[in-house]
Amino acid sequence: LVVVEDAAHSLGATYKGRRVGSLANMTVFSTHPVKLITTGEGGIVTTDDTILAKRLRIFRNHGITTEARERKNEWLYEMINIGYNYRITDLQCALGISQLVKAEEFLNKRCAIAERYNEAFRGLPEVEIPVQLADRTSAWHLYVVRLCLDKLRVGRDQVFKALRAENIGVNVHYIPVAWHPYYQKLGHKRGECPKAERIHEQLLTLPLFPAMTDSDVEDVIRAVNKVISAYRR
Ligand SMILES: *Cc1c(COP(=O)(O)O)cnc(C)c1O
Repeated sequence: LVVVEDAAHSLGATYKGRRVGSLANMTVFSTHPVKLITTGEGGIVTTDDTILAKRLRIFRNHGITTEARERKNEWLYEMINIGYNYRITDLQCALGISQLVKAEEFLNKRCAIAERYNEAFRGLPEVEIPVQLADRTSAWHLYVVRLCLDKLRVGRDQVFKALRAENIGVNVHYIPVAWHPYYQKLGHKRGECPKAERIHEQLLTLPLFPAMTDSDVEDVIRAVNKVISAYRR
């Protein structure tokens, strides 16, 4: 089996002391602007397998064995497979290289904000903070809490609205996949994944990005405490 990992949330995360990107045969990262580093659009595949690396390069180049700049004085090139145009531009790569230089700093900032949130919400019974297992570290792409709805007088949507009214950019990640019209058309029904759907009703994502100042982080904490106390049972 060849394992292809989707690590779009995990740049900089570790598992048993190893960085994500070195765990699977191939690991895929997204560099869309909302992700941990950006190239405007695009992504990165990591592999330590030279054969797979070669096949990936051919796949992104219409199935052709050499790119134009590799041909030097030769005119011969061969299409050996079906491929597509998945080439990233040099301009995007220039941005990506400068982003990579900052990646560690972004990661440290994210970890510090997550740590501050953990500390602030650990004692709040209406809010469950994210679980952290001892043998892994998160890249904190998202900071998602679970609301303990039996301890609140309102549902998540009301908490969401109240926090937005406090000018806090909360969000919800994610809508259960089977709820999307495409999957409903394929015959999936609400209620099919009762645990995921129940948890979905509790989820709330708090703002977390490297440019947040300490006072932004404290604003979020203050607003969450205010809204939760107002709706406490
Ligand atoms: C963002 C994201 C993707 C898609 O990345 P693109 O760059 O838009 O292709 C895939 N999987 C996960 C988990 C993501 O977060």
